[in-house]
Amino acid sequence: MRRIVYEGRIRERGQVQLLPPRPFCVIKMCMERTLISETPQHIGTMVLLKGWLVSIRDHGGVSFFTMRDATGIVQVVVTKALRAQYPLLSEWSTVALTGQITERPEKLRNPAMPTGSIEVQAQAIEVLSVAQPLPLPIDSEGYEITEDLRLRYRYLDLRRERIQRNLKTRQQMQDIVRESLRAQRFYEIETPLLTKSTPEGARDFVVPSRLQPGTFYALPQSPQQYKQLLMVAGFERYFQFARCLRDEDLRADRVLEFTQLDLEMSFTTREEVMALNEALLIHLVKTLFPQKHIQELPFPCIDYADAMKLYKTDRPDIRKDKNDPNLLAFCWVVNFPFFEKTDEGGWTFTHNPFSEPLPEHKKDLLAKKNIEHILTTQYDIVLNGSEIGGGSIRAHEPHTLHTVFEIMGFKKDRIQEQFGHMLEAFTYGPPPHGGIAWGFDRLVAMLMNEPSIREVIALPTGGSGKTAIMDAPSPIDPQQLKELKLSIVHEKKRSSKKKPTKRS
Ligand code: ASP
Repeated sequence: MRRIVYEGRIRERGQVQLLPPRPFCVIKMCMERTLISETPQHIGTMVLLKGWLVSIRDHGGVSFFTMRDATGIVQVVVTKALRAQYPLLSEWSTVALTGQITERPEKLRNPAMPTGSIEVQAQAIEVLSVAQPLPLPIDSEGYEITEDLRLRYRYLDLRRERIQRNLKTRQQMQDIVRESLRAQRFYEIETPLLTKSTPEGARDFVVPSRLQPGTFYALPQSPQQYKQLLMVAGFERYFQFARCLRDEDLRADRVLEFTQLDLEMSFTTREEVMALNEALLIHLVKTLFPQKHIQELPFPCIDYADAMKLYKTDRPDIRKDKNDPNLLAFCWVVNFPFFEKTDEGGWTFTHNPFSEPLPEHKKDLLAKKNIEHILTTQYDIVLNGSEIGGGSIRAHEPHTLHTVFEIMGFKKDRIQEQFGHMLEAFTYGPPPHGGIAWGFDRLVAMLMNEPSIREVIALPTGGSGKTAIMDAPSPIDPQQLKELKLSIVHEKKRSSKKKPTKRS
Protein backbone atom coordinates (compact mmCIF):
# COMPACT_ATOMS: atom_id res chain seq x y z
CA MET A 1 0.00 0.00 0.00
CA ARG A 2 1.25 3.47 -0.83
CA ARG A 3 1.66 5.76 2.06
CA ILE A 4 -0.17 9.03 1.86
CA VAL A 5 1.56 11.92 3.49
CA TYR A 6 -0.08 15.25 3.81
CA GLU A 7 2.08 18.19 4.57
CA GLY A 8 1.40 21.63 5.85
CA ARG A 9 -1.74 21.00 7.85
CA ILE A 10 -1.21 24.15 9.77
CA ARG A 11 -3.54 26.96 9.02
CA GLU A 12 -3.54 30.57 10.05
CA ARG A 13 -6.95 31.68 11.27
CA GLY A 14 -9.23 32.04 8.27
CA GLN A 15 -6.56 30.92 5.79
CA VAL A 16 -6.80 27.46 4.42
CA GLN A 17 -3.57 26.06 3.11
CA LEU A 18 -3.99 24.04 -0.04
CA LEU A 19 -2.87 20.47 0.29
CA PRO A 20 -0.90 18.57 -2.32
CA PRO A 21 -3.09 16.57 -4.69
CA ARG A 22 -4.25 13.24 -3.40
CA PRO A 23 -2.29 10.24 -4.67
CA PHE A 24 -4.18 7.79 -6.78
CA CYS A 25 -6.65 5.49 -5.02
CA VAL A 26 -5.07 2.90 -2.83
CA ILE A 27 -8.23 0.96 -2.07
CA LYS A 28 -9.67 -0.82 -5.06
CA MET A 29 -13.18 0.52 -5.12
CA CYS A 30 -14.68 -2.64 -6.53
CA MET A 31 -16.32 -3.31 -3.17
CA GLU A 32 -19.65 -1.74 -2.48
CA ARG A 33 -19.83 0.67 0.42
CA THR A 34 -21.52 -0.53 3.59
CA LEU A 35 -23.33 2.07 5.69
CA ILE A 36 -22.27 2.20 9.31
CA SER A 37 -25.78 1.49 10.58
CA GLU A 38 -25.70 -1.79 8.65
CA THR A 39 -22.40 -3.03 10.06
CA PRO A 40 -23.93 -5.25 12.81
CA GLN A 41 -25.57 -7.30 10.05
CA HIS A 42 -22.22 -8.19 8.48
CA ILE A 43 -20.31 -9.96 11.23
CA GLY A 44 -17.43 -11.96 9.81
CA THR A 45 -17.35 -10.19 6.47
CA MET A 46 -15.04 -7.67 4.92
CA VAL A 47 -16.65 -4.29 4.34
CA LEU A 48 -15.79 -0.94 2.84
CA LEU A 49 -16.81 2.03 5.01
CA LYS A 50 -16.62 5.69 4.09
CA GLY A 51 -16.96 8.52 6.55
CA TRP A 52 -15.31 10.80 9.08
CA LEU A 53 -12.86 9.87 11.79
CA VAL A 54 -14.42 11.59 14.74
CA SER A 55 -11.92 10.38 17.28
CA ILE A 56 -8.51 8.77 17.22
CA ARG A 57 -7.23 7.13 20.40
CA ASP A 58 -3.76 5.61 20.37
CA HIS A 59 -3.15 2.96 23.02
CA GLY A 60 0.43 1.72 22.60
CA GLY A 61 -0.29 -1.54 20.82
CA VAL A 62 -3.46 -0.60 18.96
CA SER A 63 -5.44 2.47 18.06
CA PHE A 64 -9.18 2.96 18.19
CA PHE A 65 -10.93 5.18 15.70
CA THR A 66 -14.55 6.22 15.96
CA MET A 67 -15.85 6.48 12.46
CA ARG A 68 -19.07 8.25 11.51
CA ASP A 69 -21.25 8.54 8.46
CA ALA A 70 -24.75 9.96 8.14
CA THR A 71 -26.23 6.74 9.51
CA GLY A 72 -24.23 6.22 12.68
CA ILE A 73 -20.88 5.66 14.37
CA VAL A 74 -18.74 2.56 14.77
CA GLN A 75 -15.51 1.60 16.51
CA VAL A 76 -12.55 0.71 14.30
CA VAL A 77 -9.49 -1.14 15.62
CA VAL A 78 -6.24 -0.23 13.89
CA THR A 79 -2.98 -2.14 14.30
CA LYS A 80 0.19 -0.33 15.22
CA ALA A 81 1.68 -1.12 11.81
CA LEU A 82 -1.29 0.30 9.90
CA ARG A 83 -1.53 3.34 12.15
CA ALA A 84 2.18 4.04 11.63
CA GLN A 85 1.52 4.59 7.94
CA TYR A 86 -0.66 7.59 8.77
CA PRO A 87 1.14 9.64 11.38
CA LEU A 88 -0.58 12.86 10.33
CA LEU A 89 -4.11 11.52 10.29
CA SER A 90 -6.31 14.03 12.07
CA GLU A 91 -9.77 13.89 13.59
CA TRP A 92 -12.59 14.81 11.20
CA SER A 93 -10.59 13.71 8.16
CA THR A 94 -12.61 11.58 5.76
CA VAL A 95 -11.44 8.09 4.91
CA ALA A 96 -12.37 5.00 2.99
CA LEU A 97 -11.56 2.00 5.07
CA THR A 98 -11.74 -1.71 4.50
CA GLY A 99 -11.97 -4.04 7.42
CA GLN A 100 -13.42 -7.17 8.87
CA ILE A 101 -16.41 -6.92 11.18
CA THR A 102 -15.99 -8.89 14.38
CA GLU A 103 -18.17 -9.35 17.39
CA ARG A 104 -16.88 -7.60 20.51
CA PRO A 105 -16.15 -9.74 23.53
CA GLU A 106 -19.19 -9.71 25.85
CA LYS A 107 -17.70 -7.38 28.44
CA LEU A 108 -16.52 -4.84 25.88
CA ARG A 109 -19.94 -4.33 24.32
CA ASN A 110 -21.45 -0.87 24.47
CA PRO A 111 -25.23 -1.12 24.76
CA ALA A 112 -25.57 2.67 24.41
CA MET A 113 -24.29 2.47 20.82
CA PRO A 114 -26.42 0.85 18.07
CA THR A 115 -23.22 -0.73 16.67
CA GLY A 116 -21.86 -1.39 20.17
CA SER A 117 -21.80 -5.17 19.79
CA ILE A 118 -19.25 -5.14 16.97
CA GLU A 119 -16.06 -3.46 15.84
CA VAL A 120 -14.19 -3.21 12.57
CA GLN A 121 -10.65 -4.60 12.26
CA ALA A 122 -9.11 -2.16 9.78
CA GLN A 123 -7.12 -3.70 6.92
CA ALA A 124 -6.50 -0.70 4.67
CA ILE A 125 -7.15 2.99 4.90
CA GLU A 126 -7.36 5.60 2.24
CA VAL A 127 -7.45 9.21 3.29
CA LEU A 128 -10.01 11.07 1.18
CA SER A 129 -9.55 14.49 2.74
CA VAL A 130 -7.62 15.91 5.64
CA ALA A 131 -9.21 18.06 8.33
CA GLN A 132 -7.40 20.99 9.85
CA PRO A 133 -8.06 21.50 13.54
CA LEU A 134 -11.67 22.70 13.78
CA PRO A 135 -12.17 26.34 14.79
CA LEU A 136 -14.90 25.43 17.31
CA PRO A 137 -15.65 22.39 19.43
CA ILE A 138 -18.47 20.28 18.02
CA ASP A 139 -18.54 17.40 20.46
CA SER A 140 -20.53 19.43 23.01
CA GLU A 141 -24.13 20.61 22.91
CA GLY A 142 -22.79 23.94 21.67
CA TYR A 143 -25.04 26.30 23.64
CA GLU A 144 -21.97 27.81 25.29
CA ILE A 145 -20.40 28.96 22.00
CA THR A 146 -21.16 32.42 20.64
CA GLU A 147 -23.74 32.61 17.88
CA ASP A 148 -21.30 34.48 15.61
CA LEU A 149 -18.79 31.66 15.69
CA ARG A 150 -21.41 28.95 15.32
CA LEU A 151 -23.03 30.61 12.32
CA ARG A 152 -19.75 31.54 10.67
CA TYR A 153 -18.83 27.86 10.72
CA ARG A 154 -22.38 26.56 10.51
CA TYR A 155 -21.29 23.71 8.20
CA LEU A 156 -19.20 22.43 11.11
CA ASP A 157 -21.72 23.38 13.77
CA LEU A 158 -24.23 21.27 11.84
CA ARG A 159 -22.05 18.22 12.45
CA ARG A 160 -23.01 18.49 16.11
CA GLU A 161 -25.10 15.48 17.08
CA ARG A 162 -27.82 17.59 18.66
CA ILE A 163 -28.34 19.66 15.53
CA GLN A 164 -28.24 16.59 13.30
CA ARG A 165 -30.95 15.07 15.48
CA ASN A 166 -33.03 18.26 15.31
CA LEU A 167 -32.88 18.40 11.54
CA LYS A 168 -33.68 14.72 11.17
CA THR A 169 -36.72 15.10 13.42
CA ARG A 170 -37.77 18.18 11.49
CA GLN A 171 -37.75 16.11 8.34
CA GLN A 172 -39.74 13.32 9.97
CA MET A 173 -42.31 15.91 11.03
CA GLN A 174 -42.53 17.16 7.45
CA ASP A 175 -42.93 13.60 6.20
CA ILE A 176 -45.81 12.94 8.57
CA VAL A 177 -47.56 16.19 7.69
CA ARG A 178 -47.16 15.50 3.96
CA GLU A 179 -48.42 11.97 4.23
CA SER A 180 -51.39 12.94 6.35
CA LEU A 181 -52.46 15.95 4.25
CA ARG A 182 -52.04 14.10 0.96
CA ALA A 183 -54.29 11.36 2.29
CA GLN A 184 -56.89 14.09 2.95
CA ARG A 185 -56.99 15.42 -0.63
CA PHE A 186 -54.47 18.23 -0.20
CA TYR A 187 -52.25 19.29 -3.09
CA GLU A 188 -48.72 20.47 -2.32
CA ILE A 189 -48.21 23.48 -4.54
CA GLU A 190 -45.27 25.91 -4.66
CA THR A 191 -45.98 29.62 -4.88
CA PRO A 192 -43.57 32.27 -6.19
CA LEU A 193 -40.84 34.09 -4.30
CA LEU A 194 -40.81 37.06 -6.62
CA THR A 195 -44.14 38.66 -5.96
CA LYS A 196 -46.06 41.72 -4.85
CA SER A 197 -46.40 42.97 -1.34
CA THR A 198 -48.96 41.12 0.80
CA PRO A 199 -49.79 42.72 4.12
CA GLU A 200 -48.81 40.58 7.10
CA GLY A 201 -47.89 43.40 9.39
CA ALA A 202 -44.13 43.44 8.71
CA ARG A 203 -41.86 45.24 6.24
CA ASP A 204 -41.24 43.70 2.83
CA PHE A 205 -37.91 42.68 1.47
CA VAL A 206 -37.76 44.10 -2.03
CA VAL A 207 -35.89 42.98 -5.14
CA PRO A 208 -35.15 45.53 -7.85
CA SER A 209 -36.14 44.60 -11.38
CA ARG A 210 -33.43 44.92 -14.07
CA LEU A 211 -35.88 44.57 -16.95
CA GLN A 212 -38.14 47.32 -15.65
CA PRO A 213 -35.76 49.64 -13.85
CA GLY A 214 -37.32 51.55 -10.99
CA THR A 215 -39.79 48.77 -10.21
CA PHE A 216 -39.49 46.16 -7.50
CA TYR A 217 -40.69 42.72 -6.55
CA ALA A 218 -41.51 42.00 -2.93
CA LEU A 219 -40.48 38.72 -1.35
CA PRO A 220 -43.51 37.04 0.21
CA GLN A 221 -44.28 37.62 3.87
CA SER A 222 -46.58 34.64 3.38
CA PRO A 223 -48.32 32.95 0.42
CA GLN A 224 -51.65 34.33 1.65
CA GLN A 225 -52.96 35.73 -1.63
CA TYR A 226 -51.62 32.93 -3.81
CA LYS A 227 -53.15 30.23 -1.68
CA GLN A 228 -56.50 31.97 -1.86
CA LEU A 229 -56.14 32.23 -5.63
CA LEU A 230 -55.45 28.46 -5.71
CA MET A 231 -58.84 28.05 -4.07
CA VAL A 232 -60.40 30.14 -6.85
CA ALA A 233 -58.53 27.80 -9.23
CA GLY A 234 -60.47 24.85 -7.88
CA PHE A 235 -57.82 22.74 -6.10
CA GLU A 236 -60.02 22.86 -2.99
CA ARG A 237 -57.17 21.90 -0.63
CA TYR A 238 -53.60 23.20 -0.72
CA PHE A 239 -50.57 23.02 1.52
CA GLN A 240 -46.93 24.01 1.32
CA PHE A 241 -43.89 24.27 3.52
CA ALA A 242 -43.56 27.90 2.55
CA ARG A 243 -40.57 30.15 3.02
CA CYS A 244 -41.68 33.53 4.38
CA LEU A 245 -39.53 36.63 4.46
CA ARG A 246 -40.20 39.52 6.77
CA ASP A 247 -37.95 42.50 7.29
CA GLU A 248 -38.61 42.75 11.00
CA ASP A 249 -36.59 44.37 13.69
CA LEU A 250 -34.54 41.55 15.07
CA ARG A 251 -35.18 40.18 18.48
CA ALA A 252 -33.33 37.36 20.15
CA ASP A 253 -35.39 34.61 18.57
CA ARG A 254 -36.41 36.21 15.27
CA VAL A 255 -35.05 35.21 11.91
CA LEU A 256 -35.62 37.09 8.68
CA GLU A 257 -36.73 34.04 6.76
CA PHE A 258 -38.66 31.19 8.23
CA THR A 259 -40.88 28.31 7.25
CA GLN A 260 -44.62 28.03 7.62
CA LEU A 261 -46.76 25.01 7.11
CA ASP A 262 -49.31 26.89 5.06
CA LEU A 263 -52.66 25.40 4.15
CA GLU A 264 -56.00 26.44 2.74
CA MET A 265 -59.33 24.63 2.28
CA SER A 266 -62.47 25.34 0.25
CA PHE A 267 -66.11 24.88 1.28
CA THR A 268 -65.00 24.75 4.88
CA THR A 269 -65.84 26.15 8.27
CA ARG A 270 -63.81 27.51 11.14
CA GLU A 271 -64.57 24.35 13.14
CA GLU A 272 -63.44 22.06 10.31
CA VAL A 273 -60.08 23.83 9.84
CA MET A 274 -59.47 23.79 13.57
CA ALA A 275 -60.41 20.10 13.93
CA LEU A 276 -58.20 19.05 11.03
CA ASN A 277 -55.21 20.93 12.43
CA GLU A 278 -55.79 19.71 15.93
CA ALA A 279 -55.89 16.09 14.72
CA LEU A 280 -52.67 16.64 12.74
CA LEU A 281 -50.86 18.10 15.76
CA ILE A 282 -51.98 15.21 17.97
CA HIS A 283 -50.90 12.69 15.33
CA LEU A 284 -47.47 14.34 15.08
CA VAL A 285 -46.92 14.34 18.83
CA LYS A 286 -48.11 10.75 19.30
CA THR A 287 -46.02 9.42 16.43
CA LEU A 288 -42.73 11.21 17.00
CA PHE A 289 -42.76 12.37 20.60
CA PRO A 290 -44.26 9.52 22.66
CA GLN A 291 -42.53 10.86 25.80
CA LYS A 292 -44.65 14.04 25.62
CA HIS A 293 -48.15 14.33 26.97
CA ILE A 294 -50.87 16.70 25.91
CA GLN A 295 -52.53 18.39 28.86
CA GLU A 296 -56.08 18.52 27.58
CA LEU A 297 -57.99 16.95 24.70
CA PRO A 298 -59.78 18.30 22.78
CA PHE A 299 -57.67 21.46 22.91
CA PRO A 300 -59.49 24.07 25.03
CA CYS A 301 -60.86 26.98 23.04
CA ILE A 302 -60.58 30.35 24.75
CA ASP A 303 -62.24 33.60 23.81
CA TYR A 304 -59.83 36.44 23.16
CA ALA A 305 -61.68 38.57 25.71
CA ASP A 306 -61.42 35.84 28.37
CA ALA A 307 -57.74 35.26 27.61
CA MET A 308 -57.05 38.95 28.10
CA LYS A 309 -59.05 39.02 31.30
CA LEU A 310 -57.66 35.84 32.82
CA TYR A 311 -54.12 35.71 31.46
CA LYS A 312 -53.48 39.31 30.29
CA THR A 313 -52.27 37.93 26.98
CA ASP A 314 -53.72 36.41 23.82
CA ARG A 315 -51.11 33.63 24.07
CA PRO A 316 -52.04 32.09 27.38
CA ASP A 317 -49.71 29.60 28.95
CA ILE A 318 -52.23 27.22 30.49
CA ARG A 319 -49.73 24.58 31.65
CA LYS A 320 -50.63 23.09 35.03
CA ASP A 321 -46.98 22.23 35.67
CA LYS A 322 -44.49 24.60 34.08
CA ASN A 323 -41.55 22.51 35.24
CA ASP A 324 -42.57 19.45 33.25
CA PRO A 325 -40.50 19.60 30.03
CA ASN A 326 -42.77 17.01 28.41
CA LEU A 327 -46.06 18.77 29.01
CA LEU A 328 -47.78 20.23 25.95
CA ALA A 329 -50.65 22.57 26.74
CA PHE A 330 -52.31 23.46 23.44
CA CYS A 331 -55.23 25.84 23.25
CA TRP A 332 -57.12 27.75 20.61
CA VAL A 333 -57.83 31.44 20.94
CA VAL A 334 -60.81 32.77 18.96
CA ASN A 335 -63.09 35.77 18.55
CA PHE A 336 -60.40 38.41 18.16
CA PRO A 337 -61.27 41.99 17.29
CA PHE A 338 -60.91 42.48 13.54
CA PHE A 339 -59.46 45.99 13.79
CA GLU A 340 -57.36 48.06 16.14
CA LYS A 341 -56.66 51.77 16.25
CA THR A 342 -53.51 53.08 14.59
CA ASP A 343 -51.33 55.73 16.23
CA GLU A 344 -52.77 58.20 13.75
CA GLY A 345 -56.33 57.46 14.88
CA GLY A 346 -57.37 55.30 11.91
CA TRP A 347 -57.94 51.54 11.81
CA THR A 348 -55.73 48.65 10.89
CA PHE A 349 -56.28 44.87 10.96
CA THR A 350 -55.20 42.92 14.03
CA HIS A 351 -54.37 39.66 12.21
CA ASN A 352 -55.31 39.34 8.59
CA PRO A 353 -57.15 41.77 6.32
CA PHE A 354 -58.36 38.92 4.10
CA SER A 355 -60.53 37.46 6.86
CA GLU A 356 -64.29 37.21 7.02
CA PRO A 357 -65.84 38.75 10.12
CA LEU A 358 -67.99 36.57 12.39
CA PRO A 359 -71.44 36.20 10.69
CA GLU A 360 -73.19 38.25 13.37
CA HIS A 361 -70.75 41.14 12.78
CA LYS A 362 -70.90 41.21 9.02
CA LYS A 363 -73.69 43.77 8.86
CA ASP A 364 -71.66 46.20 10.95
CA LEU A 365 -68.57 45.63 8.82
CA LEU A 366 -70.41 46.31 5.58
CA ALA A 367 -71.97 49.39 7.17
CA LYS A 368 -68.56 50.38 8.64
CA LYS A 369 -70.23 50.74 12.03
CA ASN A 370 -69.14 49.74 15.55
CA ILE A 371 -65.73 48.98 14.12
CA GLU A 372 -64.08 48.38 17.49
CA HIS A 373 -66.64 45.67 18.24
CA ILE A 374 -66.37 43.73 14.98
CA LEU A 375 -64.91 40.29 15.63
CA THR A 376 -63.03 38.25 13.05
CA THR A 377 -63.11 34.53 12.26
CA GLN A 378 -59.40 34.34 13.18
CA TYR A 379 -58.23 31.34 15.23
CA ASP A 380 -54.77 31.15 16.79
CA ILE A 381 -53.22 27.97 18.08
CA VAL A 382 -51.08 28.47 21.18
CA LEU A 383 -48.67 25.98 22.75
CA ASN A 384 -47.25 26.55 26.24
CA GLY A 385 -47.69 30.29 25.85
CA SER A 386 -46.27 30.62 22.32
CA GLU A 387 -48.34 31.24 19.23
CA ILE A 388 -47.54 28.42 16.86
CA GLY A 389 -50.11 29.16 14.18
CA GLY A 390 -53.08 31.15 13.09
CA GLY A 391 -55.60 31.48 10.33
CA SER A 392 -59.15 32.44 9.45
CA ILE A 393 -62.12 31.99 7.20
CA ARG A 394 -61.64 34.44 4.35
CA ALA A 395 -63.79 37.13 2.84
CA HIS A 396 -64.54 35.62 -0.58
CA GLU A 397 -66.98 38.26 -1.67
CA PRO A 398 -65.24 41.22 -3.31
CA HIS A 399 -67.49 43.71 -1.59
CA THR A 400 -66.54 42.47 1.90
CA LEU A 401 -62.81 42.59 1.17
CA HIS A 402 -63.14 46.04 -0.39
CA THR A 403 -64.93 47.30 2.71
CA VAL A 404 -62.14 46.01 4.97
CA PHE A 405 -59.62 48.12 3.05
CA GLU A 406 -61.97 51.10 3.12
CA ILE A 407 -62.23 50.83 6.90
CA MET A 408 -58.43 50.88 6.95
CA GLY A 409 -58.59 54.20 5.11
CA PHE A 410 -57.29 52.97 1.76
CA LYS A 411 -58.41 55.09 -1.20
CA LYS A 412 -60.17 53.32 -4.11
CA ASP A 413 -57.13 53.70 -6.42
CA ARG A 414 -54.81 52.18 -3.88
CA ILE A 415 -57.16 49.25 -3.25
CA GLN A 416 -57.37 48.67 -6.97
CA GLU A 417 -53.63 48.96 -7.48
CA GLN A 418 -52.69 46.68 -4.57
CA PHE A 419 -55.54 44.21 -4.45
CA GLY A 420 -57.43 44.58 -7.75
CA HIS A 421 -56.31 41.09 -8.79
CA MET A 422 -57.94 39.53 -5.68
CA LEU A 423 -61.13 41.54 -6.06
CA GLU A 424 -61.37 40.54 -9.71
CA ALA A 425 -60.60 36.86 -8.99
CA PHE A 426 -63.43 36.86 -6.50
CA THR A 427 -65.87 37.82 -9.27
CA TYR A 428 -65.31 34.46 -11.02
CA GLY A 429 -66.95 32.02 -8.65
CA PRO A 430 -64.59 31.75 -5.67
CA PRO A 431 -65.45 28.96 -3.23
CA PRO A 432 -65.87 30.04 0.38
CA HIS A 433 -62.55 29.13 1.96
CA GLY A 434 -60.30 29.39 4.97
CA GLY A 435 -56.93 28.19 6.15
CA ILE A 436 -54.12 28.48 8.58
CA ALA A 437 -50.34 28.68 8.79
CA TRP A 438 -48.14 27.12 11.44
CA GLY A 439 -44.83 28.64 12.42
CA PHE A 440 -43.13 25.39 11.62
CA ASP A 441 -39.69 26.29 13.01
CA ARG A 442 -41.20 27.31 16.34
CA LEU A 443 -43.19 24.09 16.60
CA VAL A 444 -40.11 21.95 15.89
CA ALA A 445 -38.06 23.95 18.41
CA MET A 446 -40.69 23.54 21.11
CA LEU A 447 -41.15 19.83 20.54
CA MET A 448 -37.36 19.37 20.60
CA ASN A 449 -37.15 21.45 23.81
CA GLU A 450 -34.86 23.89 22.05
CA PRO A 451 -34.65 27.46 23.34
CA SER A 452 -34.32 29.03 19.89
CA ILE A 453 -35.68 28.38 16.41
CA ARG A 454 -32.11 28.76 15.10
CA GLU A 455 -31.36 25.36 16.60
CA VAL A 456 -33.81 23.71 14.19
CA ILE A 457 -33.10 25.69 11.01
CA ALA A 458 -30.15 24.45 8.96
CA LEU A 459 -28.85 27.83 7.84
CA PRO A 460 -30.57 30.56 9.85
CA THR A 461 -29.93 34.27 9.82
CA GLY A 462 -28.26 35.44 13.02
CA GLY A 463 -29.43 37.93 15.60
CA SER A 464 -27.87 40.80 13.67
CA GLY A 465 -29.55 39.76 10.41
CA LYS A 466 -26.39 38.28 8.87
CA THR A 467 -26.72 35.07 6.92
CA ALA A 468 -24.93 31.99 8.13
CA ILE A 469 -21.47 31.37 6.61
CA MET A 470 -21.81 33.87 3.76
CA ASP A 471 -21.52 37.39 4.89
CA ALA A 472 -24.75 38.81 3.50
CA PRO A 473 -26.02 41.47 3.34
CA SER A 474 -22.99 42.84 1.53
CA PRO A 475 -22.31 45.54 -1.07
CA ILE A 476 -22.88 44.58 -4.71
CA ASP A 477 -20.75 45.26 -7.72
CA PRO A 478 -21.12 48.82 -9.13
CA GLN A 479 -21.87 47.20 -12.50
CA GLN A 480 -24.87 45.42 -11.00
CA LEU A 481 -26.12 48.70 -9.58
CA LYS A 482 -25.73 50.29 -13.00
CA GLU A 483 -27.74 47.55 -14.68
CA LEU A 484 -30.49 48.05 -12.13
CA LYS A 485 -30.26 51.83 -12.56
CA LEU A 486 -29.84 52.19 -8.83
CA SER A 487 -27.48 54.42 -6.94
CA ILE A 488 -26.62 54.31 -3.28
CA VAL A 489 -27.19 57.47 -1.32
CA HIS A 490 -24.80 57.61 1.58
CA GLU A 491 -26.34 59.38 4.50
CA LYS A 492 -24.11 62.08 5.87
CA LYS A 493 -22.86 61.17 9.27
CA ARG A 494 -23.80 63.77 11.82
CA SER A 495 -20.72 65.26 13.39
CA SER A 496 -20.81 64.04 16.92
CA LYS A 497 -19.16 66.61 19.04
CA LYS A 498 -19.65 64.84 22.27
CA LYS A 499 -19.12 66.67 25.45
CA PRO A 500 -16.60 64.90 27.58
CA THR A 501 -18.52 62.75 30.00
CA LYS A 502 -18.04 63.21 33.66
CA ARG A 503 -16.57 60.30 35.48
CA SER A 504 -18.22 59.40 38.67
N1 ASP B 1 -51.03 34.21 6.22
C1 ASP B 1 -51.26 34.10 7.63
C2 ASP B 1 -49.93 34.33 8.39
O1 ASP B 1 -48.87 34.28 7.81
C3 ASP B 1 -51.78 32.77 8.03
C4 ASP B 1 -53.14 32.48 7.50
O2 ASP B 1 -54.07 33.23 7.81
O3 ASP B 1 -53.31 31.46 6.82
O4 ASP B 1 -49.96 34.54 9.59
